[in-house]
Amino acid sequence: MAEDQLPPQWRIALADVSIGDEEIAAVTEVLRSGWLSMGPTTEHFEQALGDYLGAEHVLAVTNGTAALHLAAAALGIGPGDEVICPSLTFVASAAAMLQTGATVRLADSTSLDDFSLNPDEIDRLAGPRTRAVVVVHYGGYPAAMEEIMARCRARELLVIEDAAHAPGAAINGRSCGTIGDAGCFSFFPNKNMTTGEGGAVVFADEKAASKARLLRSHAMTALTWDRHLGHANSYDVLDVGFNYRIDEIRAALGLVQLARLDTMNASRARLATLYRLLLADQPSLVVPGFGARGRPVHHLAVALAPRDSRDRVRQLLRGRGIQTSVHYPAIHRFSHYRQTHETELPVAEEIAERVITLPLHPRLGEAEIREICEALVEAVADNQAAPN
Ligand SMILES: *Cc1c(COP(=O)(O)O)cnc(C)c1O
Repeated sequence: MAEDQLPPQWRIALADVSIGDEEIAAVTEVLRSGWLSMGPTTEHFEQALGDYLGAEHVLAVTNGTAALHLAAAALGIGPGDEVICPSLTFVASAAAMLQTGATVRLADSTSLDDFSLNPDEIDRLAGPRTRAVVVVHYGGYPAAMEEIMARCRARELLVIEDAAHAPGAAINGRSCGTIGDAGCFSFFPNKNMTTGEGGAVVFADEKAASKARLLRSHAMTALTWDRHLGHANSYDVLDVGFNYRIDEIRAALGLVQLARLDTMNASRARLATLYRLLLADQPSLVVPGFGARGRPVHHLAVALAPRDSRDRVRQLLRGRGIQTSVHYPAIHRFSHYRQTHETELPVAEEIAERVITLPLHPRLGEAEIREICEALVEAVADNQAAPN
């Protein structure tokens, strides 16, 4: 790589992993054991995740996108079906539904104060072909599950929770990801817990979970591990499946990260509270309250910049070595989706134009949050003094 292609040296990075000696020891143990593909450590990880979430049917998989696709496939979503999905989410929430052959109807956010799916959009978009609704707990803040579940149950729609941001979040005493028919988690390195690449899917119903277990590994009736144990000499193939298996290395990493999740989430909560405090009296910034529902896990810290100033403000922060991001550009404005999803979703569009994602991860210090807030406030003021 040429020098000018190297990534900038951020003084304060947007996200970071928290990996310690315990993770290294757990991975080393698996490597020394000689068994790397999905087996007992994965089962142990699934059990631990189920205990943590209060879920009976848990499958660890290769990544969060695979979790979403597997959820939809196991719930029987396919060609001819329509799925309602928010536009203000990572593109995988919608793409995974399209992978099944279903079509997607993109839905608007609730408000500038509550970015998640507007429950009224279900009434607006549901039609005779609608089978399911994807709900994203944006930023680790529980979506309006009571209103969404009531509308979906009334229309007999399946609910797939995209809980990629929300491991450990809860609402009305239930973990996010365990309220709908399926819940999907991602353990990508920038998420609240990581396995490198990795994910998990939780099902409410045993039948969907068994179907998913089959589809996860080529729809074969036996795993390599079963054959290793001598439980099976051959196998049958019952469907057209995938290879969405996780491996023992990642499962071992996941077990340690899961044990540390509450501590890491507590650090995020402390830092998010400080952000909120420091940015509370800034009239030109909007710090959304996300409906103040349930127990959030603060995956993202976001603020809305004044209209037409976001990119300039981000640039000023970049100049001070502070990395920011945008969660998210609205899906219906991406090239691939623009033609097929020609629609106007004014709330999602305004959020997409004004949102700035600020650094947030458990290894950040309070001094850094103060510095980011000062820089942000100055950048907004500078931009208002000299707009270009
Ligand atoms: C990260 C993420 C995904 C995809 O997870 P991967 O593990 O990267 O495949 C899906 N939805 C949302 C909302 C995400 O943030």
